[in-house]
Amino acid sequence: MFENLSERLGGVFDRLTKQGALSEDDVKTALREVRVALLEADVSLPVARDFVKAVQAKATGSAVTKSVTPGQQVIKIVHDELKHVLAGDDPDPGKLRIDNAPAPILMVGLQGSGKTTTTAKLAKRLHERERKRVLMASLDTNRPAAMEQLQVLGQQIGVDTLPIVKGETPVQIAKRAKQQATLGGYDVYMLDTAGRLHIDAELIAQAAEVRDVANPRETLLVVDGLTGQDAVNVATEFDDKIGVSGVVLTRMDGDGRGGAALSMRAVTGKPIKFVGLGEKMDALETFEPERIAGRILG
Ligand code: GDP
Repeated sequence: MFENLSERLGGVFDRLTKQGALSEDDVKTALREVRVALLEADVSLPVARDFVKAVQAKATGSAVTKSVTPGQQVIKIVHDELKHVLAGDDPDPGKLRIDNAPAPILMVGLQGSGKTTTTAKLAKRLHERERKRVLMASLDTNRPAAMEQLQVLGQQIGVDTLPIVKGETPVQIAKRAKQQATLGGYDVYMLDTAGRLHIDAELIAQAAEVRDVANPRETLLVVDGLTGQDAVNVATEFDDKIGVSGVVLTRMDGDGRGGAALSMRAVTGKPIKFVGLGEKMDALETFEPERIAGRILG
């Protein structure tokens, strides 16, 4: 799908660049194709519509049609607008508010989104690049395997995990994590909450309860970037119910759809902070709007 969008825009812009002069109708035709391409890449309809409207206003208001290279002008306007929507006002998406030690980071998301993997990847990054002392705790009391998974990853990356105590509630674990982080002199403690296959009342209630106890500096929503429109719905719901400070889009190594990034940013207004680019512990990068915009344009 992602390739489709690139190819499609590539095709449209190829045709534009080859033409000498361009009428306003030409621009309209091109933008109609841009809109279809965005929709095909799973950008939501209102977002695609607004996007095209914004580009059209800029293209019509500028000297595009009179320019000797009108196609390139349109490409530039589309590119700039993509970057603008993707980046918002966030100059440094990878920067987390974790200055007051111990700073709690709450990780939320659906089961299978890559939440536990991302928790460990981020812990590794904070540990190695920012020299932070990090403690990770799994709150997934429904799935002992998930707790063990985090413990194994912790050992693998050399980051401490809170010892597993059977029979505790997520809130009790969150409190114990805070205590241990304080006593142990940790800079950051990460709470990997339970995920479910779908958003339900219990999942939200549990995450909200943990949030109220932990008072997180950052609440990061982990979403599968391959799920397109669903990813946007998940983000909207989590943000409404829990309050999200940033998003991590996983599986952007596959045929990741730029569409999800675009509509997620436009609809929720929440910054995309990181992208997951594989299963390995190093496969997490700061979100770069420029790069995604470039990929979308092909
Ligand atoms: P959770 O249920 O949300 O905690 O999901 P997990 O962290 O257990 O991840 C589910 C699967 O997705 C695992 O096999 C991960 O290795 C894989 N995964 C996580 N992030 C990425 C990513 O960015 N790219 C790819 N290709 N796989 C990922």
